[in-house]
Amino acid sequence: MSGGDMAKPLLGHRSTEGDPSITPMAGRTIGVLGSGDFARSLAIRLVCSGFKVVVGSRNPKRKAGLFPSAAEVTFQAEAVKKTDVIFVAVFREHYSTLCDLADVLVGKILVDVSNNTEINHHKESNAEYLASLFPACTVVKGFNVVSAWTLQSGARDGNKQVLICSNNQEAKRTIAEIAQVMGFTPVDMGCMSSACEIENIPLRLLPAWKIPIFLALGLFLCFFTYNLIRQVIHPYIREQKNKLYKIPIEVVNTTLPCVAYVMLSLVYLPGVLAACSQLYYGTKYRRFPDWLDQWLQHRKQIGLLSFFCAALHAVYSLCLPMRRSHRYQLIETAVKQAVEKKMNIWVEEEVWRMEIYISVGIIALGLLSLLAITSLPSIANSLNWREFSFIQSTLGFIALVISTLHTLTYGWSRAFDENQYKFYLPPTYTLTLLVPCTVILAKVIFSLPCIQQRLLRIRRGWEKGRYVKFVLPSATGEYSSGETSSNV
Ligand code: NAP
Repeated sequence: MSGGDMAKPLLGHRSTEGDPSITPMAGRTIGVLGSGDFARSLAIRLVCSGFKVVVGSRNPKRKAGLFPSAAEVTFQAEAVKKTDVIFVAVFREHYSTLCDLADVLVGKILVDVSNNTEINHHKESNAEYLASLFPACTVVKGFNVVSAWTLQSGARDGNKQVLICSNNQEAKRTIAEIAQVMGFTPVDMGCMSSACEIENIPLRLLPAWKIPIFLALGLFLCFFTYNLIRQVIHPYIREQKNKLYKIPIEVVNTTLPCVAYVMLSLVYLPGVLAACSQLYYGTKYRRFPDWLDQWLQHRKQIGLLSFFCAALHAVYSLCLPMRRSHRYQLIETAVKQAVEKKMNIWVEEEVWRMEIYISVGIIALGLLSLLAITSLPSIANSLNWREFSFIQSTLGFIALVISTLHTLTYGWSRAFDENQYKFYLPPTYTLTLLVPCTVILAKVIFSLPCIQQRLLRIRRGWEKGRYVKFVLPSATGEYSSGETSSNV
């Protein structure tokens, strides 16, 4: 058993003295069937939370050494007899081998902690299957979303939520209280029909990330192809120069910031569209179209992917001077200058452009890191709504403006140089500016007092064309009431 955090209970035990209505949770005996990884972690956690634990194993002698000395390890039937609440830490495939215990299990609460290997693997959930095998028991589904590791390391260091469902309210309440004493947050998921959904949760692979990842990949592919045409295919066709070496680093490094920048603007674009819709219809009670709803819900993931691309861009940029091609080009330029006897190669404008470009780039990356960190649930939970919206909304918008400055200083006057138009294609950075500048312009327009006021009123419940009751203070300070059209 690990010491430290695990040595003390995470929640103080409630005093139940003199209050017969409260079940004294800590001190209660809890049974665990099975002696595997989950059973062991569960037993350790239960013991540390003040419970008495009795473990039921097919081979108690061999397994006893794996458990804390405070836990009793005995045969399955013996263990079951000593308690009313039993965690079944056994795989579904082996439930039928527990049928011999049916008589001693009558009237007990069985907690099904099992998971499957595939989503919707069986017709009925594991918990429903267990309930069908032991009709004289009350089955509660729970604890399957926490891993053995989370149980060992303490709730502060892992997922704190324990999803629980059962057809029996009393049994569900008992298990919820046990979870609470163990330092977890029980979440009531309703009746047993939710068990299937609870069992699928640990098997889902990043469900909220699919759309943002496809979006990022789509953008990456488009910008990569565009940059490939400009940086590799164009010099080959026009000057028969082989620039394939640029693909792994240069082309990727011009693509990543485009994706990061456009993705960041896509975090703020749905908010602009939502505000336009509210202004147009004069109400906040009209449902947004599904695609906009989905987009609004995925802003966090889109923002995190934007940060990921920006961070990669920073690393790639730092590595640019390490390339052999870069060294050859430097030497080539130096030799050319020596041959031409050029002594002063300092171009003041270029120096300033680069200094500003790098500086604003670093600031933008710093702000993006802040946004990414504060979007993590553990950090977000420690912020109040005003702090969270200040960071995500105001600082996020500032990050977008600074990224725009970074892009503009990168481009400088290149947009006006006709040599930059390869196959008549404008430089990539000019394309990326389109969506972010639209968002920035829209935000500036929304901040005009006349529009801001209207938007604010709509968001506080005002509706166009609706008659509302009003209350006005009279000259004497008394209040008179009446009805008026709210858009007058
Ligand atoms: P495990 O290490 O393989 O342990 C399973 C235990 O089941 C064995 O130690 C065995 O204990 C017992 N058992 C009883 N009858 C059995 C039989 N007929 N054949 C084989 N074993 C039998 O598995 P685990 O990782 O602890 O998982 C146990 C349950 O917890 C599973 O349903 C799993 O889905 C769930 N779960 C596990 C985790 C995790 O992180 N490991 C997380 C969430 C949920 P005895 O030999 O002492 O009888």
